[in-house]
Amino acid sequence: MNVLVINSGSSSIKYQLLDMRTEHVLCSGAVERIGEAVGSLTHKIAPSTEGEDKITLTQPIADHEEGMHLVIGLITDAEKGVVKSMDEIEAIGHRIVQGGDVFNASCRVDDRVVDELTKLIPLGPVHNPGHLAGIRVARHLFPKVPQVTVFDTVFHQTMPPRAYMYALPYELYEELKVRRYGFHGTSHAYVTKEAARFLGKPAEEANLITVHLGNGSSMCCVQNGKSIDTSMGLTPLEGLIMGTRCGDADLAIYPLLGAAKGLSIEEINDLTNKQSGFKGICGKNDMRDIHEAVAQGDAKARLALDMFGYRNRKYIGSYLAVLGRVDAIVFTAGIGENDPVARELSCRGLEHLGIRLDHDRNLAQARGARDIATSDSPVRVLVIPTNEELEIARQTVEVLRAN
Ligand code: ADP
Repeated sequence: MNVLVINSGSSSIKYQLLDMRTEHVLCSGAVERIGEAVGSLTHKIAPSTEGEDKITLTQPIADHEEGMHLVIGLITDAEKGVVKSMDEIEAIGHRIVQGGDVFNASCRVDDRVVDELTKLIPLGPVHNPGHLAGIRVARHLFPKVPQVTVFDTVFHQTMPPRAYMYALPYELYEELKVRRYGFHGTSHAYVTKEAARFLGKPAEEANLITVHLGNGSSMCCVQNGKSIDTSMGLTPLEGLIMGTRCGDADLAIYPLLGAAKGLSIEEINDLTNKQSGFKGICGKNDMRDIHEAVAQGDAKARLALDMFGYRNRKYIGSYLAVLGRVDAIVFTAGIGENDPVARELSCRGLEHLGIRLDHDRNLAQARGARDIATSDSPVRVLVIPTNEELEIARQTVEVLRAN
């Protein structure tokens, strides 16, 4: 079965077409700057293989429908297409960030799902409108193809109330559904299964702390294969220090900024989500640039790195306390997979709690799943590459088989 995975944002559509018999990626790409004066489309055939071929288009792309038309044109192109016709696209999986507590599993798209996603816009104002645009266009262009929504929040729907409630007036939860939802669930779910496989035990028996460190970062406390706590909250703002998001911060900063600087709620929201984190501390949001700056003696970049490691350590420590027995700490995503310094800072000082990183194994450049703990470490420390698109495609197939 060929599954087209779509991650549609407000002005972009990222996609991957996978052949699920082999789980190979046939092509992938991104339409960007939809609705702007000049948009772009980058399309890769057989990405990350020897036969990789890249096509780039630069032109105005008025809306999501025009963007999808361009994508379909390239996928089915007579010369460079990876399939002969649209009929060979047999299912579509949509990535959805906010599923609230309405969705506790991936599900087939129908009018009810679209209605529920529309009602969830207040809880996911940044992402859900873009997802809905993608669903609308895909249903219009592929009326006969079954479509499935896969949610970032679903994996965390197993959190108990003590972990997901905020200690705010209870009415806010009842009236507005103000609670912690958690995100990156597709990634945490994927690496949980992969880590369990690596450890040679059923996922249902695995106690893990999964550490997704990318532009956005979150941690998940996994007991018996299920999420029982996670660092992101109502929105992806809470928790770890990220590229441009501050993570945990005292809510009283809001009124102070309002009073002292005359900032509006929108401006403060922008400040905490887009001007903070690494960028706010040292002016750089990409971890590679931060390392370069540290090497040149930049004290603020050093501070950003230290704050990042310290926050990660605090979270790992708190999840160790929650879990008691832990099989493995699992690092994933851009920083988690590639940055030995970030991993070392995140585990530093936790040796007495059973986490012993092997210096050389941590430094070794390798692809694929690997164990970087010392042989005698009571807790394993794993690096597991995440693959959210593959997880979405797998869940799409699973939902359609179950139907
Ligand atoms: P996203 O959250 O956008 O999916 P990624 O998972 O791709 O992000 O992670 C992006 C982050 O990973 C960036 O901060 C980038 O600097 C970092 N990164 C990627 N490769 C490396 C590397 N080799 N060393 C250190 N950091 C890296």
